[in-house]
Amino acid sequence: MSFASVAPSPARKRMALTLAAVLAASGLATLSMPAQSEARPLEASCGNLPGKKVNESFLTSAEVVDSLRKIEKNSKGRLDLDVAGYTNNGKPIHTARVGEGDTVVFIESQIHGNEPHGTVALLEVLKTLTNDSKRSAEIRKAVTVVALPQLNGDGADLQQRQNSMTWADVVEDFPQLAGAPRAWNFNTANGGFDVNRDFHPDLDFVPQASDFPGNSASTGWYITPEARTSRDVYKALEQEFGTVDIFVDLHNQGPCYTDDALEDYSTLSISARFIADPTQFGDWPKFDYDASRRVNVAVYDALQGNNSPQSKVTLYPQNTNLPGTALGAFALRGSATILFETIGMTQTTAQKMNGQLAKQVETGLTAILDSVTDGTLDDIDPERYELIPERRNVPRN
Ligand SMILES: [Zn+2]
Repeated sequence: MSFASVAPSPARKRMALTLAAVLAASGLATLSMPAQSEARPLEASCGNLPGKKVNESFLTSAEVVDSLRKIEKNSKGRLDLDVAGYTNNGKPIHTARVGEGDTVVFIESQIHGNEPHGTVALLEVLKTLTNDSKRSAEIRKAVTVVALPQLNGDGADLQQRQNSMTWADVVEDFPQLAGAPRAWNFNTANGGFDVNRDFHPDLDFVPQASDFPGNSASTGWYITPEARTSRDVYKALEQEFGTVDIFVDLHNQGPCYTDDALEDYSTLSISARFIADPTQFGDWPKFDYDASRRVNVAVYDALQGNNSPQSKVTLYPQNTNLPGTALGAFALRGSATILFETIGMTQTTAQKMNGQLAKQVETGLTAILDSVTDGTLDDIDPERYELIPERRNVPRN
C-alpha cells in the first residue's frame, strides 16, 4: 500500500518548486527544471559537491559536545556519554548510549563532514529517548541505542567531506607504509581522506605497503583514526551482543529526482545494498541482506504521508559495491544496514529546509526503534524493498 506510485498532487508540486527555488537561491541556480524532452543521462552525478563552507547554520564539533552534555545532564542517568576516540586533529569523538534492550542499534552520523542533517536528527532522537514518556521507557527496555554523532568532527568544522590528515600523518602511525603510494581516497584540494572508504570487514586488519593505493571496489585499511574509532565501537558491541543487530549511517547527497518526470526532488534516498556479492570478500556467513531490506522498508513506510515532503523517498543506486564503507564492512559481519542520504550538503542546503530535512531523518530513525520495540520488524516482507523507486539523477549540462 505504501508503495503506490501516484502523480504528485498540486501541493506536492508546490513543495518541489519551493525546494527548487530555495536550492537555486543557495547557489544551485543551474538546477532549474529541465524540459521533459531533454536527454536525461542517469549516470550523471547527483553526488558529492566540491568546495567548502558557505553555511553557518550547522553544528560545529564543540556545539555537538555541548548538546550531548546537556542531554546527558537532563537524562536522569538514562544516557551514558563516553569518549570513544579522537579525530586526527585531537577532537574527542563521543558515543551516547541509551537503553538496556537485547537488540543493539548503532547509529553513526557525519562521517562526511559536510553532511550535517543526520547529526541534528540523532541529537533529537537521544533527547526523546531519555525523556519521561511511557513510549521512551518501552523503547529503552527493548533496544540498546549507541549513537556516534559527527564522527568526522575535523571535516565538520571545515565543512568538507574528508577528514583533516596527510599521508605523512598516516605513515607516522604506520611506519611500514613508508614509500608506499598514497591511498586513492586522499583529496588533494581539501587535504584529507574520505573516511568512508577506510573500512574493512576484518576488524583486526593491519595495513601493509602492498595494499596501496587501493580503489573504490576494494576494502579499506583503518588508516584514519575516525574509521578506527567507529570500528572500535562496533567491535566492542559485537563482543557484548554477539552481532550488532542494526547499523545506520547518516549521510547527505546532492539533489536527485524521484522519477523520470523530473518534477520532484527526492528528499531522502535509502539503501540496504552496498555489497554486490559477499563471497567476493571471503567467508561472511552472517551477511543478511533480507534483514537490511526489512529495516529499509520500515523506514520507507514510516515516511509515506499525503502531501508530505517526507514521502519523497527513493532508493540510492542499487548497483553499489563498496566494501570499504562502514555499511559494506559491517553488513558483511552480519548487521542489518541502512544508508540515509538526505538532500543537500552544507554548501547548498537552504536554512529554510533544514528543520524539515532533519525531522525526516528523525522520523526514519524512530521507525527503526519502534519496529524493534513492537516486534513488527521481523514480519516485514523484504521483497517489498524492490518496489521502492530508485532515485533519478539531475542531468548534467
Ligand atoms: Zn556521505
